[in-house]
Amino acid sequence: MLRRTKILATLGPATDKPGVLEGMFEAGVDFVRMNFSHGSAEDHINRANAVRALSEKTGRLVGILADLQGPKIRIARFKDTKVRLDEGQDFALDINLDPLAGDNTQVGITYEPLALEVKPGSRLLLDDGRIVLDVINVENMRVNCTVVVGGDLSNNKGINLMGGGLSAAALTDKDKEDIKTIAIMKCDYVAISFPRCAEDLHEARRLLVAAGCNAGIVSKVERAEAIVPNVMDEIILASDAVMVARGDLGVEIGDANLPAVQKMLIKRTRELNRVAITATQMMESMIENPIPTRAEVFDVANAVYDGTDVIMLSAETASGKYPIKAIEAMNRVCIEAEKQPVVRVSTHRIDQQFEHVDEAIAMSTMYLANHSKVNGIAALTESGSTPLWMSRISSGIPIFAFSPHPETLGRVTLFRGVFPVLFKHDATDHAEINRAIIAKLKKRGVAVKGDTFIITKGDLEGEQGGTNALKVVTIGQGLTP
Ligand code: PEP
Repeated sequence: MLRRTKILATLGPATDKPGVLEGMFEAGVDFVRMNFSHGSAEDHINRANAVRALSEKTGRLVGILADLQGPKIRIARFKDTKVRLDEGQDFALDINLDPLAGDNTQVGITYEPLALEVKPGSRLLLDDGRIVLDVINVENMRVNCTVVVGGDLSNNKGINLMGGGLSAAALTDKDKEDIKTIAIMKCDYVAISFPRCAEDLHEARRLLVAAGCNAGIVSKVERAEAIVPNVMDEIILASDAVMVARGDLGVEIGDANLPAVQKMLIKRTRELNRVAITATQMMESMIENPIPTRAEVFDVANAVYDGTDVIMLSAETASGKYPIKAIEAMNRVCIEAEKQPVVRVSTHRIDQQFEHVDEAIAMSTMYLANHSKVNGIAALTESGSTPLWMSRISSGIPIFAFSPHPETLGRVTLFRGVFPVLFKHDATDHAEINRAIIAKLKKRGVAVKGDTFIITKGDLEGEQGGTNALKVVTIGQGLTP
């Protein structure tokens, strides 16, 4: 059975070891993430080249997502690398302090406006919420706090404001520089960290296009203000894909709110015809252990039931001990979860009018596929929109996206249930094109005599939005060999 949910794995030192990337391909990775919060431009370029070379060698397209660091707000450094903070003690964050001179009473910060954007009673969460500070007052740009939850605190840890509201712009100078590297790497998607509103994403798209990069945009939803209803819809619509970035988001909105927000975000993203990614700590214990916990198995399966297109691995693959086993574990959990009837039936857009002919063909195809004996769908596509519409419908039927364009094939690799097929042909006769499609599917081992496939295509080759035909073919009957 083909797994429909896509696995996105972060690359890092653990995946640079000999044989690991090959093992990840064999285990079924679909997409890799280059995390620009770590490593040099050269590291990312080398890793992207290795992925492209292996895709070429194995004939398995694995897409590339570049993840910009964004305005992660951080403390500066301590004289002794780390300090111990005790509950109830005072601790200050001070922009004017020497960035190397932190101790267990105070530390510098990298974000100038912090003192202007907090007030007495604001709650600050450091190191992904492991340390909690309540603001007492602000004196001369120095934020005086009480430690509510103590522990060890080391250099450069992140700071979040509970409830959100820090005004830092989503694109930093470093991000703008990294966009130039990303354009060279020819990534399929670029993730924007901490967007506040749709305009942050429009700006990112403008900068990418200016750098010569047409990558899709992934918005990482990790600020409390990004899930305010209207803002959320605008962010989704300004993106090609949306990541439920549970690490930072959980810190801003509180962990108990995450499950409901994950379900709501995935549902809304799919309703608006965008792609959903669920990220962070999905197989966290596999950083150290070769098998996941039962809770992690349930988390992955529940994300599949929620309808996510993609599940992501972070440190599990980038720096963990078992990067290949983490992918294998996700793979087997998804395959079992996808057998459940709940992820195969759909009421999506049942009462809606369709605006475009190609959209209507895509919807009709899925209705037909879900309600009759069909083994697969072959969608000829220029831009990837037809398979995107199709894949918003829950189904157990694989959708093969046939395209001559590497850019389109890279994009569709992220869609749930969609599998890219490079397809170039010179035929103009429709029966001949159908035969070529079936021959490709047979060669790939996903179609045999007697199987029924739905083929969608347009009258005119090379025209975007031109899909206007849906044909049902049974292999070995009629004109189909
Ligand atoms: C997150 O916060 O969940 C996330 C995916 O972001 P990053 O891994 O870049 O911190």
